[in-house]
Amino acid sequence: MYPFALERPRDLNAALALRAQAGRNDAPVEYIAGGTDMVQLLQENVRRPEKLVSLAGLLDDRIEVGPQGLRLGAAATMAEVAAHAEVVERFPIIAQALLNSASPQVRNQATMGGNLLQRTRCPYFRDVGYVSCNKRVPGSGCSAIGGENRWNAVLGTSENCIAVNPSDLAVALVALDAVVEVGGPGGDRSIPLADFHRLPGDTPHMETVLEAGEVITAITVPADAAGLRSHYLKVRDRASFEFAVVSAAVALDMDGSGIRRARIALGGVGTKPWRVPQVETAMAGASLEPARLRQAAALAAEGAQGQGHNDFKIELMQRAIVRAVEIAGART
Ligand SMILES: Cc1cc2nc3c(=O)[nH]c(=O)nc-3n(C[C@H](O)[C@H](O)[C@H](O)COP(=O)(O)OP(=O)(O)OC[C@H]3O[C@@H](n4cnc5c(N)ncnc54)[C@H](O)[C@@H]3O)c2cc1C
Ligand code: SF4
Repeated sequence: MYPFALERPRDLNAALALRAQAGRNDAPVEYIAGGTDMVQLLQENVRRPEKLVSLAGLLDDRIEVGPQGLRLGAAATMAEVAAHAEVVERFPIIAQALLNSASPQVRNQATMGGNLLQRTRCPYFRDVGYVSCNKRVPGSGCSAIGGENRWNAVLGTSENCIAVNPSDLAVALVALDAVVEVGGPGGDRSIPLADFHRLPGDTPHMETVLEAGEVITAITVPADAAGLRSHYLKVRDRASFEFAVVSAAVALDMDGSGIRRARIALGGVGTKPWRVPQVETAMAGASLEPARLRQAAALAAEGAQGQGHNDFKIELMQRAIVRAVEIAGART
């Protein structure tokens, strides 16, 4: 681990000022919240900031459910949100995604803001022994293309990076049209989560649309996402403490036994949390008849590109959609 200084500013404005001067993305000055991702990356020498600015005590940690919907303060922990009675009752897919993430110890420490900004699990990104990784060292190449790429993405990839966004929470939230509230030196703004993460293109090191110094202050979920029949299906190599190979977040508005409206997002397959509007459109008005669901789910493969080891994900993600819709649709 490289040496760094830890700053504990007294208020958020002081934190913003410290961080803003350092620029965007993997800057010499970085925020730290729960530290569960940041500390791993420091230990592995993947990130080498000179200074960390602690957000501890500076951000809202409240969880509020009201007529407008759900508001999660950025400092609320994964464990607190997963256990919150109204989240469990009205937005169960969020609790499911969280309880299927990491371990109890990590969930006790990790925050909402940090979760959305956790870095990819691409093994070449996390091992500085590999020279070529455009996300870690811009312009150095991509070891995963032509290398071991079982864990990598099939949607939203570029010739420069095929890394998966690893957040389970973000998949559930993007299906529910969540919005990220951001504060920064230039003021506050709201960003739909669907637009928050960037596609890799030719700048895979630029992962979000956050400007220098901007901080996530809260996440909101609109009220119309409450009470939908939903399911978060996570396919992984072992039953716990493992990232998704493929996941599907499904929330259904049912009309008797038919689907009035479906909201569907995928994890483990995209370079960002991946909403599939073409599948949603095809499912609107459909029954839960398996052949019809399979036909609609097949549309998720539009534009998908495997790299060899991960080709299986293209079929698996379609099956995950069908299974998750069947489970959500069968709920009462
Ligand atoms: C062993 C292990 C297993 C895991 N398994 C899973 C899993 O199955 N599914 C899953 O989704 N996740 C998993 N995770 C990842 C975990 O969810 C994240 O590490 C955690 O959510 C990060 O939150 P944090 O508060 O600790 O962030 P930190 O590590 O403190 O920060 C992460 C990043 O976010 C930035 N940051 C933090 N808060 C803010 C903010 N409010 N505004 C702006 N920037 C901010 C930091 O600068 C840093 O770049 C796992 C982690 C571990 C260690
Ligand atoms: S897929 Fe992205 S993160 Fe992985 S090695 Fe290639 S450039 Fe790096």
